[in-house]
Amino acid sequence: MKEFFDVVIVGGGMVGAALACALGDGPLKVAVLESTQPETYDASQPHDLRVSALSIASKTFLDSVGAWQGITDRRLCPFRRMRVWEAEGDTEFCSDDINYPELGYIVENRLIQLALLERCAAFGNIELICPTQLNKINYNPGQDSELYLADGRELVAKLLVAADGGQSRVRQTVGLGVTSWDYQQQALVIYVETAYGQQDITWQRFVPSGPQAFLPLPGHYASLVWYNSPDAVRRLQALPLEQLQAELLAAFPDCLGEIRQVLAVTSFTLRRQHAQHYVKQGVALVGDAAHTINPLAGQGVNIGLLDAAALGEVLIAAADQGLSIADTAVLKKYEAMRRHENLKMMTVMDVFYQLFSNDVPPIKFLRNLGLGLAERVSPAKNLLMRNAMGLEGNLPKLARGVPIIQK
Ligand SMILES: Cc1cc2nc3c(=O)[nH]c(=O)nc-3n(C[C@H](O)[C@H](O)[C@H](O)COP(=O)(O)OP(=O)(O)OC[C@H]3O[C@@H](n4cnc5c(N)ncnc54)[C@H](O)[C@@H]3O)c2cc1C
Repeated sequence: MKEFFDVVIVGGGMVGAALACALGDGPLKVAVLESTQPETYDASQPHDLRVSALSIASKTFLDSVGAWQGITDRRLCPFRRMRVWEAEGDTEFCSDDINYPELGYIVENRLIQLALLERCAAFGNIELICPTQLNKINYNPGQDSELYLADGRELVAKLLVAADGGQSRVRQTVGLGVTSWDYQQQALVIYVETAYGQQDITWQRFVPSGPQAFLPLPGHYASLVWYNSPDAVRRLQALPLEQLQAELLAAFPDCLGEIRQVLAVTSFTLRRQHAQHYVKQGVALVGDAAHTINPLAGQGVNIGLLDAAALGEVLIAAADQGLSIADTAVLKKYEAMRRHENLKMMTVMDVFYQLFSNDVPPIKFLRNLGLGLAERVSPAKNLLMRNAMGLEGNLPKLARGVPIIQK
């Protein structure tokens, strides 16, 4: 028997689940399909390897849809300061300078997802189908989409949303193309126990082989990210953990303090990918399905959450006005809100990447000049900080704390 929905979101990761929450208690009937049930939280668990630096805009959005509490009830590490430096210059940003209590929050990806899925389950108009396996999608422009699940269920959707990550099957099935290339570096993510207690600073140091980053976690723990050539990452990841600890102590700056133990390690290929269009009749892409970006400044999920907030806003407005949510003209409003903004962010990350992974003297000079200016000129510094916090640009309503559903 066919089951009819206004919106079917494929992928209940951070972005797909956030979109569902944005539509929670609204006029649309929504299904979220997620293939993997995330492990439930227990305070005694070690931290996950996948963590994100959430911006203030992301926090506001998560709060607006009632999911922030689910994160604070579990665990997170707020940070107030951010330091960026290289051999010949450095600058430190502090939230006090712009009268904010925090610059952002380091949170495990799974806990963001758990808080959002828990919230989804509380809305009467949302059905969370998890775990599930999607066997087949029938997409024909101008008609409702049909989705066939492994357990025999058949879903019919006016709007199909791809929130299924960088390798998006939905995006490929509906024929939305991407432009993409791999960066020449990979990221080694290392979970460590530190001698220092919980810190309120994130830092990033630039050395010729690539950036090194420190993200504090609750307690005596941290997540380190070591960007390097694919060969170097392969070599480091293959080392016994004690040897990796010795390499870290030799390569990372003294301010890291003693690393008591390396607890776990993983690596990621870094790929820039951008969909040429985010929408077509009856389909929209959000999050990594639409764009993957250099994680250098930790903006991937932050811009994905803004996609979710923007698409939610456009769909609710269309439903309120009696317009079809599958119409390209309606969906284009979402694309107009987000594609250019995301392209700008991707371009800024690429300029950073080129600037900081380069030892050519004029480029070194430019980057030192930039850091020096950022250090000395308060308005420039504050603007940079506000950008990193997601407070600049055209923010969707939910990321400004403005409701989209009238109760
Ligand atoms: C090293 C590294 C560090 C990063 N650090 C940061 C950071 O500090 N801050 C930041 O903002 N971003 C960061 N990012 C980026 C961030 O992790 C991604 O942008 C984010 O995970 C994208 O979320 P998403 O929900 O769009 O996609 P995903 O996280 O990929 O989620 C997709 C979901 O869809 C599900 N799925 C897939 N296919 C199907 C299917 N057929 N049926 C049902 N379900 C399906 C998957 O199980 C998954 O849950 C980092 C990335 C890397 C690689």
